[in-house]
Amino acid sequence: MTDNAAPDIASQVSAGTRSGHQETSAVSLPDRVEIVEVGMRDGLQIESEFVPTDTKAEILNALIDAGVRHFEATSFVSPRAVPQLRDAQEVLEKVHKRAGVVLGVLAPNRKGVENALRSKADEIVVFLSATESHNTKNLNRPVEQSLRDIEEIAEQLKDHPIKRKGAIAVAFGCPFEGDVDLERIKTIFGHFARLGFDAVTLGDTTGMATPRLVRRTVEALRADHPGMKISLHFHNTRGIGLVNVVEGLRAGVTSYESSLAGLGGCPFAPGATGNICTEDLVYLLDEMGVDSGIDLRALINVAQRLENVIGRNLPGQLMKAGPRLHLHDYGGAVGAVG
Ligand SMILES: [Zn+2]
Repeated sequence: MTDNAAPDIASQVSAGTRSGHQETSAVSLPDRVEIVEVGMRDGLQIESEFVPTDTKAEILNALIDAGVRHFEATSFVSPRAVPQLRDAQEVLEKVHKRAGVVLGVLAPNRKGVENALRSKADEIVVFLSATESHNTKNLNRPVEQSLRDIEEIAEQLKDHPIKRKGAIAVAFGCPFEGDVDLERIKTIFGHFARLGFDAVTLGDTTGMATPRLVRRTVEALRADHPGMKISLHFHNTRGIGLVNVVEGLRAGVTSYESSLAGLGGCPFAPGATGNICTEDLVYLLDEMGVDSGIDLRALINVAQRLENVIGRNLPGQLMKAGPRLHLHDYGGAVGAVG
């Protein structure tokens, strides 16, 4: 070791920091983000075995105890279409609300909105798909008709203080049509913005988003509507759900939708697997120094409980492996490596 080793290292480090800083100066991550837990809606809707109302409410309450403050808690969809969520009204009744908790519900049409307005919901989520084929599968009508329906719903909500969020399914790719023209997304996003919605979710219903698509889409929408809140909803179908979150963070997005234990899929999208997993997401955010306000250990406990309720292995990984410093008992040397 020579006398000038230390200054050399110091100058390398500071040069590295400087060049690193130049590269990353545009990339300051948000200090805090909001997680919207969608497990009891998006996650549960394709489960054929009915989960009892009390169990749903218990899970929601345990999530509130763990620090989750925003939910898509259920859906006011036709009970024939989604029997799993036929107890929407009762589930909301059983949630112990506290200050700052937002109970969002999905409402596919005017009837759903009417029911939601009679419930304890704080937020109504109105959705459509970005492409004709997915919208036809999902809502049985052309996109143009859905845009008119949303206009009517906005009118229906006019005198109610409830929050309203728009959601665009297959925003990053459609399983039937492939890439979605960005102009289409801009048009639909602009429609929600004009109608006074508070936020718009970009749904990656079948896991076709990539970091580049996320960046391009978010930047284009921001340029058109700088004040409009964007929420990102990724599925982990192709294994890069959390990578897309990181790109969302780098692009400054502060709201992410995820599902406890990674439960979920899409009944109308062949091969679509679960939403990104809430506890895996919270772990990532914790390790990146981004505050979600959620207690990871408490969350893992609820995820394990959900896995018991569902009765099969769910995709979440943190609940299996634990956080990285969740160490194992060394147990002494045994001398054999299998
Ligand atoms: Zn979804």
